[in-house]
Amino acid sequence: MFDFHLHLARLPHSKQLTQLLLDRNYDFVAIACEPWEWREITQLKKEFSSGLKPVKVAYGIHPMIATQASSETLTKLRMLIEEDKRAMVGEAGIDKRYPGYDDGTQDKIFLAQAKLALEFKRHLQIHCVGDYMRVLKLLEEAGFKATSNQEPSQDATDSSQVKNLQAQNVTRLQEPPRPIFHRFGGDLSVVKKALPYGALFSLHADSFRKKSTAAAIPHIPQERVFFETDADETFMRGNSATANANNVTQSNAKGPVTSTATVDPGTGSGVTNESVAGVTSESAESDDNVFLSNAKDPVTSTAIVDPGTGSGVTDKSAAGVTFSPEEILAKLEMRLESVRAAYAKCRE
Ligand SMILES: [Zn+2]
Repeated sequence: MFDFHLHLARLPHSKQLTQLLLDRNYDFVAIACEPWEWREITQLKKEFSSGLKPVKVAYGIHPMIATQASSETLTKLRMLIEEDKRAMVGEAGIDKRYPGYDDGTQDKIFLAQAKLALEFKRHLQIHCVGDYMRVLKLLEEAGFKATSNQEPSQDATDSSQVKNLQAQNVTRLQEPPRPIFHRFGGDLSVVKKALPYGALFSLHADSFRKKSTAAAIPHIPQERVFFETDADETFMRGNSATANANNVTQSNAKGPVTSTATVDPGTGSGVTNESVAGVTSESAESDDNVFLSNAKDPVTSTAIVDPGTGSGVTDKSAAGVTFSPEEILAKLEMRLESVRAAYAKCRE
């Protein structure tokens, strides 16, 4: 298991959980996207990294706090990147739901981080809710170069190939700085435009919700594909609402509706309130097909699935019960496996 984007410090029992993940060979990139999270992750890394199993981390400034970032914040980030030779930069990017999207502040903070990634030859974890073309333009401006004619892949693959995928992909990490589109939600035009920049695509369960993204995914060469949970403090609360709301946010990309969405300031995953956003259940249902079909998959059938949503939710959090690290790991594995299964299915 390789979770390409995990907010380890935002999960309950992060220390015990880190130990458990390492013991059970659940590989991950721990993302820290604001100063308090940098401190937590640095601490976890210090405590749990070993020569054989270094904890992989990424430090960045999330667009949700772009307007709060000072030159001091950027200096501190630079120091962290300099100190940890393996650290990626990010997540960084743009997000239309947060301040600074329209006035260029998010662009400025993202650009600084893209330059940092190039300067220190690190991969860049990118968050984009809104205009992917704008991100690509900013990458170009930072100095990322498009090379040769790397056409999107059209070859099919069987499930055994998909199983080997993560092992192959790990070697990719040794290569020069690449943009990584985390929780990818773009369409085929984005894929075509991003591939020549050496882009990697980290797929999340939500990546399969939007039809245009699901249709674009099979065109990404396999070796550029990773899987992620993007698990944060909302993960164990049940996230069907989050997923649906995100889908809405994306599908309404050009509409005025999303401006009313309520964003949880504590998370980078943009929790919105479905009823506030004025979503019809019709659109949510039609996009749930991927998950519902996965629920019948033998691999996920042992998991605890909420019959109402099909996305693996228990009501434990509602009852105020704390989840154990084992339970969190089980849900992470289940989620990652469902992403892998959705990926295999969309390539059929
Ligand atoms: Zn994230």
